[in-house]
Amino acid sequence: MPVRYAARQWIFLFSMLKLYEAADRIEAQLLMDLLHGYHIETVLLGDYLTGAAGELPANAFPVIWVVEDEDLPRARELLADFHSTRAQAGKADPAPWECGYCGEQAECGFDLCWNCGKARN
Ligand SMILES: [Zn+2]
Repeated sequence: MPVRYAARQWIFLFSMLKLYEAADRIEAQLLMDLLHGYHIETVLLGDYLTGAAGELPANAFPVIWVVEDEDLPRARELLADFHSTRAQAGKADPAPWECGYCGEQAECGFDLCWNCGKARN
């Protein structure tokens, strides 16, 4: 039954904990990859809702949700580390760098290419 299915979806959503509202899809993906590396399961919601025709999205930013409640404190720690590292790297080297593997311009604060995931070389 579609109604019951929708209700179950909502229960699933409300049982998750909102971790972080990312500036854009790229940042969200980087953070999710980072958290995945620590075996923290996350779900990205929000940005794919922006496709609705002619309507202003209710939630314009991609939002990362933590699936398991007990992962939330660890996820927040990792996020804080990530942002402080990025802020420091930004001061030391403000120029964006070009990935040696795929040639994409990567943001200065990241040590990994957002496009192919390779480490800065
Ligand atoms: Zn790359």
